[in-house]
Amino acid sequence: MDGSIIMAKHALNAPPRRLAEGVYMVGGPDLSDPRDCLCYLVQGPEARVLVDCGAGPSAARILDLVQEAAGQPPSHLLLTHAHIDHAGGVAELVRLCGCQVLIHRDDAQTLAQGDPLRSAAQWYGLKLEPVRADVVLGQRHQLDLGQGLKLNILHTPGHTPGSVSAWCQAEEQKVLFGQDIHGPFSPTFGSDILLWRQSMQELLALNCDILAEGHYGVFRPAAEVAGFIHKQLGLH
Ligand SMILES: [Zn+2]
Repeated sequence: MDGSIIMAKHALNAPPRRLAEGVYMVGGPDLSDPRDCLCYLVQGPEARVLVDCGAGPSAARILDLVQEAAGQPPSHLLLTHAHIDHAGGVAELVRLCGCQVLIHRDDAQTLAQGDPLRSAAQWYGLKLEPVRADVVLGQRHQLDLGQGLKLNILHTPGHTPGSVSAWCQAEEQKVLFGQDIHGPFSPTFGSDILLWRQSMQELLALNCDILAEGHYGVFRPAAEVAGFIHKQLGLH
């Protein structure tokens, strides 16, 4: 056994990471499984929203991390799109805790059919277990988490047709959940670069203080958030 394996095992016992008031990282390569995207939790007094849920094999571990952070399971699971590394754990999580599943209408069919190409499941050598979402999202949606805390969801197509981003005001910090806003882009996913550029302008206009990204980590303050998005715009 080499040192890297020992380190990885150690890291998988790591606790959830607090990013801001009521906002935690609860999944990702060094928290749950190397195949997982970074998963986040927004905790309010009346609801707890998990933003993406990893590739599947780690669903129970991510649920443990949510419970450790919030003391309760998630009430909602917002899927930012239907790629396997973000949505693979959905069926198991619903079985384990009965959370409500939200996904945009333009990615809902990929999830409902467990489409191996559109979901990139084939790339990962995994299967996406089909799930019908409880809430099919349109252009805008708002979740009320209690005591004035709202999670604002907006359609930001580009990486996939039904990609969404979300933001909340966590006390002084405006936090943006921008999963896979870096891409990649592929006809197999139904990517659209022109739509993506418009989506990035919408995210820039939000002027968020913290960006919780799907694979690149957490960026702060606002200048770093804008810098990351501008850098991606310069690459594509
Ligand atoms: Zn993706």
